[in-house]
Amino acid sequence: MEQATQKAFNLDAVFNKRPLIISGPCSAETEEQLIQTATRLAATGKIDMLRAGIWKPRTRPGSFEGVGTKGLPWLQSAKKITGLPVTVEVATGKQVEDALHFGVDVLWIGARTTVNPFSVQEVADALRGVKVPVLIKNPINPDLELWVGAMERVANAGIEQIGLIHRGFSSYGNTEYRNAPMWHLAIEMKRRYPNTLMINDPSHICGRRDILLEVAQTAIDLDFDGLIVESHIDPDMAWSDAKQQITPEKMGEMVDSIRWRKEDVASEDYHANLEKLRQQINNLDDELMQILSQRMKVARNIGEYKKENNITILQTNRWNDILDRAFLKGEKLGLSKDFVTRYFDAVHMESISQQNKIMNQ
Ligand code: PEP
Ligand code: MN
Repeated sequence: MEQATQKAFNLDAVFNKRPLIISGPCSAETEEQLIQTATRLAATGKIDMLRAGIWKPRTRPGSFEGVGTKGLPWLQSAKKITGLPVTVEVATGKQVEDALHFGVDVLWIGARTTVNPFSVQEVADALRGVKVPVLIKNPINPDLELWVGAMERVANAGIEQIGLIHRGFSSYGNTEYRNAPMWHLAIEMKRRYPNTLMINDPSHICGRRDILLEVAQTAIDLDFDGLIVESHIDPDMAWSDAKQQITPEKMGEMVDSIRWRKEDVASEDYHANLEKLRQQINNLDDELMQILSQRMKVARNIGEYKKENNITILQTNRWNDILDRAFLKGEKLGLSKDFVTRYFDAVHMESISQQNKIMNQ
């Protein structure tokens, strides 16, 4: 166990570094693959922590389920050679014990575990009395309370350093992403826990290499604290998640090409200008609310009229007309079809609910 204590780093400092950049293979496959990936990642000078899956929770049986405990000494060597801390996914109490026994510095709870309070509790129980940072991935399904619940279970076990990983959410019929980012959910978690580390996992959101940078940049623009990205010496030959992995050198290039923005700058001019623009936004929002309220008033009048004439609330043709008009107008005004659809859906639902009240009075 001597290696585990020879740390070339200060773990607290790494955990608090911004941006925090974690990278490594989806899975540890062989000692050589792991050490080579780690060495080449470290050589880029852009990585703060190494990741590797040792136990892989797979959606379908028959996929590669990880090398298991025998991979932990490889991770220990990777850490010794690179001087970087290491993190692995744990899903059971035994895995927590094994990982800690082999000097793993940071543990993470995977998306398939966060969904299950029994599993999270088992992991939390194994963490009692241990000082180790724990990263918690969002649950597979878009349910913030599960994510919060996992945080609470881990915190109740006495873990002080907790971080969150946004890896997107499973959604039916989604094609662009492997897991839809649903940024608003991650943003809501950031709002609720402003002091908790929140990093983005573009690899599992994208499921493919070509849009990794775009998603990573969005996360940084949204003031995320860092990234966890899968990297492999020979991505196409990876035993898991081959399509989304990138070489260590590509990883270094990606970190370089991200525009790292500051959330705040000190300049007074900047603040004064920003304040003016924010005031404009507030005024416009007030006007929008006024107009929406007027629109609802008209909708209620229509409701009265429909009631007198005994016709249904929803008339599909009329709704199609409204949407067609809105798409045309929206296009000219630079509003995306996606936004126009979501906006009109919301307005329409509210109109229906207000008309419903009138008609059932
Ligand atoms: C992983 O990080 O390799 C992994 C299994 O991720 P997730 O839990 O987000 O699916
Ligand atoms: Mn993976």
